[in-house]
Amino acid sequence: MNTPRFTGWKIFVTSVALGSIVLGLANDTAIARQARKRLDGIAQPQKDTASKASTAEAEGGKALLTQIRHTSSDNYTRVTMKLSAGIRYESHLLKEDPAKDLPPRIYFDLIGARLAMDSRPILVQDGLLRQVRVGQFGPKVVRVVLDMTSFSDHKAFLLPDPYRLVIDIQGRRNGGGIPVVAKKKELPLSPPARKAPPEGIRKIVLDPGHGGKDPGAIGIGGVAEKDIVLSVARKLAKKLKREMGIDVVLTRQDDTFVPLEDRTAIANAEEADLFISLHTNASPNPEARGIETYYLDNTNDEASIRLAARENATSRKNISDLQFILSDLTQNMKLEDSITLAHRVHSSVVGLVGQKRAEVKDLGVKKALFYVLVGARMPSILVELFFVTHKNEGRQLGQASHQEMLVDALFDGIRKYQETTLVVKNL
Ligand SMILES: [Zn+2]
Repeated sequence: MNTPRFTGWKIFVTSVALGSIVLGLANDTAIARQARKRLDGIAQPQKDTASKASTAEAEGGKALLTQIRHTSSDNYTRVTMKLSAGIRYESHLLKEDPAKDLPPRIYFDLIGARLAMDSRPILVQDGLLRQVRVGQFGPKVVRVVLDMTSFSDHKAFLLPDPYRLVIDIQGRRNGGGIPVVAKKKELPLSPPARKAPPEGIRKIVLDPGHGGKDPGAIGIGGVAEKDIVLSVARKLAKKLKREMGIDVVLTRQDDTFVPLEDRTAIANAEEADLFISLHTNASPNPEARGIETYYLDNTNDEASIRLAARENATSRKNISDLQFILSDLTQNMKLEDSITLAHRVHSSVVGLVGQKRAEVKDLGVKKALFYVLVGARMPSILVELFFVTHKNEGRQLGQASHQEMLVDALFDGIRKYQETTLVVKNL
């Protein structure tokens, strides 16, 4: 019998009432002393040191660390730390020390931060991350320690509005397997049946944009982006399962709010082969219309920056400030595949909708910094399916028949992408 594998992901929140801990300076010192004791053994930074600056407010100790959340699977963990303002941070990696019975640890010093959450260790135990410890290490430094079980790689980045420090931890599968405690197993008498290698796309995570308190763009007749994209995503999921046998996971099943950083985390935890975020466009110009498809990359294009600012719920300036984080994150991004996927999906929608309806305005395949795509470890795109603010397009987007057509077009694009990649692999 196969050992059941944990394939689900779970999002855990350690939440705290803001302001429940109001620290005076004297108190800070006492707490810092205690924390130092508790966080002992990690005081000496070693070689693997990174330091990133965020904003000028960093040094003031004004950023409150209010929450630590994590999304877990057995080969990937995303830890998100919620902050009330910008900070500077340093990260350090400490190797395992079997002599002292110490696990490998990654710790982050949040400079300019104060602890405003419960400081009890957060137990995770997902195969990669054993627990998270947090303490006020100095008057203006919060230290967060990740006690690891095993991992191969980690990356961190800071996002604004609200500020959050996001840490992605990758396991060792596809690179040596995860050293877990081996279960006693009888020696097999015959070799295990060889499984056929997976052909093509096995699993897709579809991300209907916005939801809950965030309606997205509101268009003609009060139609909300969040409702249109959820409906399209549900229909597309059914079609992909039925006709291509693809396992599809939605980042939200209903009208609920899901933070942007959790959406990619779900795709990573699911080890999806593709991540597709669905949106509809909007403009103050009622004449604006058409479809555009995005992949994640730096851009100087003003319109793309403005769109990303709206979809990220942040300012245009923040986007420009944050472009630098991308250089760190591009290694795992599958950029070429994302561009291919973007083109296949885009041209299918332009072609099919153009064939069946009036002429489609092709706004092209573009790049921009969408938070929802940052850190995705699979080919990932964001599609802006027409303008809810355009008289005709807005009305059509609310119609079931038009949505069906979009579903057919998106499906066709995914199928063509699969055909392209299979041909390339089989050359
Ligand atoms: Zn949107």
